[in-house]
Amino acid sequence: MKELRNLIGGELRAGARQRWFDVWEPAAGQAYARAPESGAEDVEAAVEAAQGAFPGWRDLPAADRARWLNRLADLIERDLEKFAHAESCDTGKPLSLARSLDIPRAISNLRFFAGAATQFASEAHAMETGAINYTLRQPHGVVAGISPWNLPLYLLTWKIAPALAAGNCVIAKPSEVTPLTAAMLAELSIEAGLPNGVLNILHGRGAEVGNAVVTHPQVRAISFTGGTATGRHIAAAAAPLFKKLSLELGGKNPSLVFADCDFEATVEGTVRAAFANQGEICLCGSRVLVERSLYARFRDAFAARVRALRVGDPLEAETDQGALVSAAHLDKVLGAIQQARSEGGRVLCGGERARVASARCRDGWFVQPTVIEGLDASCRTNQEEIFGPVATLLPFDGEDEALEIANGTPYGLAASLWSRDNSRCHRVSARLEAGLVWVNTWMLRDLRTPMGGVKSSGVGREGGFEAMRFFTESRNVCVKY
Ligand code: NDP
Repeated sequence: MKELRNLIGGELRAGARQRWFDVWEPAAGQAYARAPESGAEDVEAAVEAAQGAFPGWRDLPAADRARWLNRLADLIERDLEKFAHAESCDTGKPLSLARSLDIPRAISNLRFFAGAATQFASEAHAMETGAINYTLRQPHGVVAGISPWNLPLYLLTWKIAPALAAGNCVIAKPSEVTPLTAAMLAELSIEAGLPNGVLNILHGRGAEVGNAVVTHPQVRAISFTGGTATGRHIAAAAAPLFKKLSLELGGKNPSLVFADCDFEATVEGTVRAAFANQGEICLCGSRVLVERSLYARFRDAFAARVRALRVGDPLEAETDQGALVSAAHLDKVLGAIQQARSEGGRVLCGGERARVASARCRDGWFVQPTVIEGLDASCRTNQEEIFGPVATLLPFDGEDEALEIANGTPYGLAASLWSRDNSRCHRVSARLEAGLVWVNTWMLRDLRTPMGGVKSSGVGREGGFEAMRFFTESRNVCVKY
């Protein structure tokens, strides 16, 4: 079995308590590695290393910090194939997706924020009374990035890159479910010669090492992506310590399909929105709302397209959908389908665990892509995040009802709408309660734009200068002349 290590002060280390947990390959249902079950002692050591590295890192010219980030990006790019295999093995996602989305995006994150480091600027406000204010934006010191299992390296670098670019030193805590690419990044940061202590990576359980990171008094800001319940817990733990928090949480995102849409492109786009990465993306459109006059035709085409998705060994090129990330998540998703049935839902396709032909995947955690109709918008299936390959179809009459259903959950992360009527697209976009709205597309991302949710989908925004502002503290200097 492979043995993964923490990165503390530029060294790869086992946890202080020498305890380990198993890491599983979802497609095979087998443990293939072990990782340190870190605790408060490891957090203490990492914070000490980060504090020690901070003055030197902060005082580097921004162009030098940018060079380090680009160097890390170059090394990941050199090892892209290795990283893609590792991500696929750890998460169960198709290798083709890890190769085309996860790893390239991790590289882009590093390069993008390398650029941001040199472009970031602050404001000045001149007063008619003979004074000028200028705003300094300075790094916090030691900050934390806590990331989930669905897009492991992609989301880890989305936090690490702006934090480092802004001059902070980082404690990163990847999900215990998918630690592999973070462990590989640790090795590359040593190979790159990144100054010791600038980046520290701790593996282990959220409730233990994650909690110790969140409550450590020297960790000044926390960027968290994960479930809403965990976000609530972190907010409650961090609030009395007055830490800066960015919370990117769950979603129950609607896709709104109007009768005047481009039919083929909409079927294709909404299927992709619902089922990409086995439906395990916070932005996935799991509730597909369809204007009633188009409903029957759309339902039949949508279900036919979903039936054609190939569930299979993530390593095979023709696989559209791989395994779910863990046995616990498999049970949760199958339980949600059961719940939908008990609420009166009609399963149009899927609905069961999938068996995959490849011998090595006999015990893998696969679920058939599932489409359900006939459920009320207010039932649990349509209100709670499932985070798996399950989509529901709901008919609506007119824009007002579409918006009422779309906005009628506690979440507000993302939405997509599909129509050829430009005025409608702008009108409806402005009324959707969501941090991100896509029109006639889905998950088309420009890294300069603000990313984040409203209501129970989070607090704060990531992306572009929003992230640079989050990872800096502003100080106004007022000079009278
Ligand atoms: P979790 O909330 O379970 O975990 C996220 C991270 O938090 C993991 O690293 C986890 O560690 C850690 N963690 C858990 N408990 C604590 C704690 N008490 N203190 C500190 N850290 C803790 O989410 P999942 O990993 O299950 O990811 C799926 C969720 O993430 C979904 O709800 C999804 O919607 C959301 N998500 C949101 C995105 C967004 O941008 N809004 C993007 C992607 C996912 P461990 O794994 O060890 O438990």
